[in-house]
Amino acid sequence: MAAMQYRALGKTGLKVSALAMGCMRLPENDSDLAAAVVDAAVEAGINYFETTRGYINGKCQHLVAPGLKGRSRGLIVSGKAGVNEETTADSYRQEIDLQMQILGVDYLEFFQVGWFSLEKLPLLTKDDGALTALDKARSEGIISHIGFTGHDQPENVVKLVETGIFDSVTLAYNMVNRSYAPAIRRAAELGVGVVVMCPVAGGMLAAPAPQLQELIPGGSQTTAAAALQFVLANLGVSCACSGMNTLQMVEENVATVASFSGMHDEDWLRMNGVLDQFATVGDRFCTACGYCMDCPEGVDIPGIFRLYNYAKVYGLEDWARLQYQRMDPAKRAEACVKCGTCEPNCPHKISIMDQLEEVAEALGVSAGTQSRDSE
Ligand code: SF4
Ligand code: SF4
Repeated sequence: MAAMQYRALGKTGLKVSALAMGCMRLPENDSDLAAAVVDAAVEAGINYFETTRGYINGKCQHLVAPGLKGRSRGLIVSGKAGVNEETTADSYRQEIDLQMQILGVDYLEFFQVGWFSLEKLPLLTKDDGALTALDKARSEGIISHIGFTGHDQPENVVKLVETGIFDSVTLAYNMVNRSYAPAIRRAAELGVGVVVMCPVAGGMLAAPAPQLQELIPGGSQTTAAAALQFVLANLGVSCACSGMNTLQMVEENVATVASFSGMHDEDWLRMNGVLDQFATVGDRFCTACGYCMDCPEGVDIPGIFRLYNYAKVYGLEDWARLQYQRMDPAKRAEACVKCGTCEPNCPHKISIMDQLEEVAEALGVSAGTQSRDSE
């Protein structure tokens, strides 16, 4: 296997592997394989493992533990828990202790405030709240660093990064959704580590999209490789955290990351320029504003057009076809009776009825291999 690359994790002084492992996709019913995947990741030089108690029906940390056994010191293992109105310093500390116990460790390099948002900041910082527990755990040497993760508005994520509370932020960023780019920039300026989750957009970019592969200088062999390379070409990113569940996936991702030597500024700007154009083309078609809803027949107009956008604009046709065919048939384009109610409400004057017909032809059952009988 090629050699792993390491990057600074903000101002923590830690060097994190450019490829991190999100442990939320380990095989639920095969603990031997899960341990082997974690083991292979460690052997390949991956040193960051993101875990939490709730993932995989509560099995995540149980599945990770055997692979970490005896070598968690030196690895960056993170636990994660959210905060709510009931959270106290005591309850949060109990959660930290419980997660360490399940993982079989006496120390966590990171603990992350999960599912966090600006709105929840007072819940974290209140007297005798979760931050009190995190600070105490840090002073006792149980944890070393505090991070947060969430899907709040990009401008709110920037504000959270600027609080000075956090050593890292974990956010979603990928070729088809770059809305957190300003937050990444700000975090990098402030020395807050940036862990990117969803680098392959929840599996969307595991499907073939040749025009995205071509955006990487020299071309990428697969769209998934292009997706990882795109994320790591952003110099504000500390690591790309990928949910891996097979040995092959570990091997392929490690090879992709290890062989990627970065991108020249002009290539980075060109690639983002093309992605801007893609986004603009998509917005001209349907912005998912929802003004055309609700359709009396139950057709999910924005949802259908969103899939069609990805197919047309990014070339993610196989992915879009699969998602479309997984939709409830009552919500698909074929359910449109052409009553015409929706069209006057579309600010973009989209010929919704014609476009739905086009989608049915492009993504519908007759366009793919899956038949209604097989659903
Ligand atoms: S034209 Fe079709 S999509 Fe539009 S409201 Fe009528 S049934 Fe729904
Ligand atoms: S009103 Fe037009 S732009 Fe908005 S969701 Fe409906 S089709 Fe898309």
